[in-house]
Amino acid sequence: MKANDLSSPNTTTSSPPDEPLTTENTSPISPVMKITGVRINYYHICHTKLWLFSHNITFEHEHENVKIGKLLHEDRYNKNKKDVTIDNTISIDFVKQRGGKIELHEIKKTKKMEDAHLRQMLYYLYYLKQKGIDAQGVMNYPLLNQTRDVILTQEDEKNIEDDIRRIEEIVTGRMPHPKRIRICPKCAYFEFCFCGEGGE
Ligand code: SF4
Repeated sequence: MKANDLSSPNTTTSSPPDEPLTTENTSPISPVMKITGVRINYYHICHTKLWLFSHNITFEHEHENVKIGKLLHEDRYNKNKKDVTIDNTISIDFVKQRGGKIELHEIKKTKKMEDAHLRQMLYYLYYLKQKGIDAQGVMNYPLLNQTRDVILTQEDEKNIEDDIRRIEEIVTGRMPHPKRIRICPKCAYFEFCFCGEGGE
């Protein structure tokens, strides 16, 4: 199937594309569209990827990077509680307590997607704050021997609320046309987006 075949969301979406998002809810987190951490991440990487994933077109589990990520978890962090999922919406690699505060940990292989990973962590902190849980985050880069503390600011919260609104617009609209970027050759959707155009 060519990417352009999906120009209308009616062909693939699992929910009606013209369904109203919300009319009365004042929370930026829509009760109709679940804004997962993965959606926030993909929004900051590629809007086509966000749209495809949100329409249940997924190949990600086959990708080599995911396998490497799983190995990292098993090898370096096997003593910690892993994969804490909340509301089927946010999934945290592991959680600890530090200084009486809940600390969320994410494990990443490289810093190539650092901004998207950081936004995902900030969204986790934001999501928990909406539930009355004050938490902080730590990004772990075991292969680089580095960590980075993440604190949610008011400006971050405003940016997240803007992101949520924009994600809803993108997902309920037509599929954004694929634009080739640096990470495309390593993306699970590469063949789908650029079939017949050649590799790296
Ligand atoms: S291959 Fe490139 S354009 Fe297509 S979804 Fe992946 S990152 Fe986006």
